[in-house]
Amino acid sequence: MKIIMLGAPGAGKGTQAIKIAEKYDIPHISTGDIFRYNIKNNTELGKEAKKYMDAGKLVPDELTCDLLLDRVKKDDCKNGYILDGYPRTIPQAEVLDEALAKNGEKIDHAINVNVPDENIVERMSGRRTCTDCGETYHIKYNAPSREGICDRCGAKLIQRDDDKPETVQKRLTVYHDQTEPLIDYYKNKGIYKEVDGTKSMDIVFDDICNILG
Ligand code: ADP
Ligand code: ADP
Ligand code: ZN
Repeated sequence: MKIIMLGAPGAGKGTQAIKIAEKYDIPHISTGDIFRYNIKNNTELGKEAKKYMDAGKLVPDELTCDLLLDRVKKDDCKNGYILDGYPRTIPQAEVLDEALAKNGEKIDHAINVNVPDENIVERMSGRRTCTDCGETYHIKYNAPSREGICDRCGAKLIQRDDDKPETVQKRLTVYHDQTEPLIDYYKNKGIYKEVDGTKSMDIVFDDICNILG
């Protein structure tokens, strides 16, 4: 099964994608995580991507598409995968669809986690991210058992630079301009589904599982 998670930054794509990946035993692929890994390891790609990420902009398609196509060619993707944060532009969606079509494959589900802008700022200002394993928490809705410490690996939790309110506004504008058109793109393909992302994490998860069957 090949699944795409759509939604504004902070809508809860990552939170859900991790649980779905576990349930269906498919890899969770987050382009944001891949970029952050490259930044942490100071690679050329990381240096380049950081400029855009810090400004709340999208990393250019030229850097993003090849990276994603290489990732989905790996062995662990044979039985499918769940994409979290890709595609974010129509050209990114087209590149993926074309690459899949060459092998007679396609995306099965595009699921939009729908959260209005008013709720997004609260979601993102409360998000805390593990500096080591990347696990995500929320100070109010999903607090770690010890403040500032990752439950999973014990490393320090931080607020991502791009989760500060100034950058969040910018990212929301970019989302509406460049990413939201994907809703119609996948509606036209007949694989679009939507869940109410303002509900609790458990309810959102159940709603997605009902769609996936
Ligand atoms: P969020 O969890 O808020 O949705 P991500 O971790 O997915 O954010 O992405 C963080 C940043 O990484 C984005 O704001 C963007 O700069 C960059 N990025 C991630 N995925 C893509 C993509 N598919 N295309 C372009 N830029 C991306
Ligand atoms: P995205 O990957 O779409 O950027 P995340 O999964 O990182 O979003 O979630 C953003 C923040 O909101 C995190 O701090 C997360 O713990 C929290 N969160 C996710 N889903 C919910 C929910 N249904 N209710 C309340 N908070 C949530
Ligand atoms: Zn951790």
